[in-house]
Amino acid sequence: MSKKRSARKPVRKAKKQSRVRSASSDKKANRRAGTGRAGGKTARSKRSTHAKKSAVRSAGAAPSGRSTATATKPLGGGLKPVRAKPGGRAPAAGGVALATDSTLAASESPQARKARAGRIIAGLHRLYPDADCALDHVSAFELLVATILSAQSTDDTVNKVTPILFERYPTPAAMAEAQPADVEKIVHSTGFFRQKTKSIIGMAKKVVESFDGRIPDRMEDLVTLPGVARKTANVVLGTHFRKNEGVVVDTHVGRLAHRLALTWTSKNDKDAVKIENDLMEVLPRPEWTFVGHALIWHGRRVCSARKPDCKACTLSPHCPSAGRFE
Ligand code: SF4
Repeated sequence: MSKKRSARKPVRKAKKQSRVRSASSDKKANRRAGTGRAGGKTARSKRSTHAKKSAVRSAGAAPSGRSTATATKPLGGGLKPVRAKPGGRAPAAGGVALATDSTLAASESPQARKARAGRIIAGLHRLYPDADCALDHVSAFELLVATILSAQSTDDTVNKVTPILFERYPTPAAMAEAQPADVEKIVHSTGFFRQKTKSIIGMAKKVVESFDGRIPDRMEDLVTLPGVARKTANVVLGTHFRKNEGVVVDTHVGRLAHRLALTWTSKNDKDAVKIENDLMEVLPRPEWTFVGHALIWHGRRVCSARKPDCKACTLSPHCPSAGRFE
């Protein structure tokens, strides 16, 4: 939570501080991108794998010495790259001119869009072949709890509190008996700790009462659990159960879906329901979970909210937004 500023502090200074904080956050996010881990493997082995791949692939950038200035190449389906007009307004902080993106996406034929999406998927597989969830977990229960805690927080913060939490409450049955005050103390740093504690304990009680203490593997059952909506259920189904029931749309995926013009019915990058429906239409089902994870990695490493690195981005030949942020 930001500290209260002095009433006498000049506005210009406050804005400068805000910019500095933001840049610092981006750097932290980039650092995190190289140390995350995914489900199914141990935290240490995943961190090691990601670190090695990070070193080899240089964070999604094209190999050095090869030209990456591809923004002016025509895109498939007659879709043209969009550039910011000289002297025009800079893209809004944290996003792009979304109305233009929607127009772009709508102007492309469904066949051309699917073909272009295929090329984007191939590029993501080359960049992030092992893209997976960065939340540490060894079971569906741990992943579900970690995902609930990750709302309005960072994976790093969640990964710091969950070892303590799961040591004390390793199963839904143990969590169902937990005292809220004890859980609140452990998860305090993730923010919204009272509501999250209520959700975690409520979820555990319902799992014990209605599902014999086992995390269900069906969307219609998962969304009946306290604190679990479609996005959280998608994370657990795709990452732990390896079921492609939907596409996880978080802040990175929403932003990249717009920049890559892979959504055409959503008005802005917060419209998660429409973005997910569009992605489910344009992406082959077996790729849903992978693309969700890979776009999160690409959003952290290359296509950040404020400063996308289009010159280094190997997806730029297939991205209508390439170069518009220069
Ligand atoms: S970095 Fe640029 S080229 Fe790459 S996906 Fe983002 S907007 Fe498109």
